Amino acid sequence: MVGEHLQQVASCPRCNLLSGWYEKRVCKYRQIFDPDGTPFDTSNMERISGGARRYCIECDRDITELVQMVAEPAADLAG
Ligand SMILES: [Zn+2]
Repeated sequence: MVGEHLQQVASCPRCNLLSGWYEKRVCKYRQIFDPDGTPFDTSNMERISGGARRYCIECDRDITELVQMVAEPAADLAG
């Protein structure tokens, strides 16, 4: 595998935490229900749009610039 992946490279400038990010995506999917109407699963998740901006999980600040492609550590590649 190519040794590169997205990672939050610095703490959020607002809350000073390194907690990860979320993306706002527009998707379509199948919502599956039990016979009694209880939702139990989804399938065929497909992104339609969105995901261009990234936001701090803790405080919702836009931290898109802090999420960057970084090289995998060598240990992971040895796998
Ligand atoms: Zn934050």
